[in-house]
Amino acid sequence: MGFLKSSLITLLSLLPKRAVKPFAMRYVAGESEDDALGVVHELNQLGFTATLDILGEHSESEEAAMEITESYMRLYEIIADSSLDCNISTKLTHLGLGFNDTLAEKNLFRLLDTAEIRENFLRIDMENSPYTDATLDLYEKCKAQYPSVGPVLQAYLKRSGEDLKRILSGTPNVRICKGIYREPDSIALQDRQEIRNSFIDLVQTGLSNGAYIGIATHDTYLIDTLETWIDNQSISKDCYEFQVLYGVPIGNRLEYLLDRGHKVRIYIPFGDEWYAYAMRRFKENPKIISYIMGNWFKS
Ligand SMILES: Cc1cc2nc3c(=O)[nH]c(=O)nc-3n(C[C@H](O)[C@H](O)[C@H](O)COP(=O)(O)OP(=O)(O)OC[C@H]3O[C@@H](n4cnc5c(N)ncnc54)[C@H](O)[C@@H]3O)c2cc1C
Repeated sequence: MGFLKSSLITLLSLLPKRAVKPFAMRYVAGESEDDALGVVHELNQLGFTATLDILGEHSESEEAAMEITESYMRLYEIIADSSLDCNISTKLTHLGLGFNDTLAEKNLFRLLDTAEIRENFLRIDMENSPYTDATLDLYEKCKAQYPSVGPVLQAYLKRSGEDLKRILSGTPNVRICKGIYREPDSIALQDRQEIRNSFIDLVQTGLSNGAYIGIATHDTYLIDTLETWIDNQSISKDCYEFQVLYGVPIGNRLEYLLDRGHKVRIYIPFGDEWYAYAMRRFKENPKIISYIMGNWFKS
């Protein structure tokens, strides 16, 4: 299966983009704003809430960083006008961090102005470790002025327990995830169970100290363990939500969580940069291979 998997991934990477697109669209809501908003509408009808992300990172010009900020501002307008249940997730390097930090800060504040006027929320995704300090510093700076903004902490980073302590006094809305980047042993846990334990610890510490927690995982061990703990502690359902990425298979867990009255938010990426994002998803998920083969045999 390992060989078959890597051969299929190699084959996919050799195909022209248009041939990969039908598979990619499992993980991406489309290229346009309309595609993405259509998916949000459908998911809202099914009882899910959503967060939209315009694919891309590391803007390399002032124009690109400003253009993406304006696209996000427009999204807030449309979400409000269409009464969709949806917020926004963004990466600070997409707004200019790393290229021009002053510009990134200016863009972030512009975005938060619109979010505030439109009574919405901004999630600042967490990128790789060179950006952790800058991201948390900027988060704290804007949190002082805008309540509706929240960061992400990565369970694999050894520093995350301390980072959570640092931001807890501001009653944060934090997403906890395992962390998606490759980080060295010196700063990041590598063992699967240790990362899970850290994830559980962060969620429990946050919830026990008045934070709102986004439990972002497809790991059913974590979902089940935390759901049981939340139940046993009688944590109110408006103190947390489960979060998953659009299109990642997770059995019938999502419907199960909704049936049990939990809030479930789906992270929906869209935009021109779908190809790189989808190729990463294919590499991460062995189950996609059976899906791809099933589709080939059907066609
Ligand atoms: C809503 C949400 C927001 C996130 N935001 C961030 C962020 O800001 N910064 C950051 O570093 N990371 C982020 N992540 C990614 C996260 O850190 C993990 O890398 C990712 O979720 C995989 O870990 P897992 O907890 O799902 O467990 P795993 O044990 O890795 O996954 C469980 C199963 O889910 C499937 N699966 C998991 N992830 C994927 C995927 N991406 N594509 C395809 N199949 C998958 C696999 O079949 C796997 O067996 C986010 C994840 C989610 C769900």
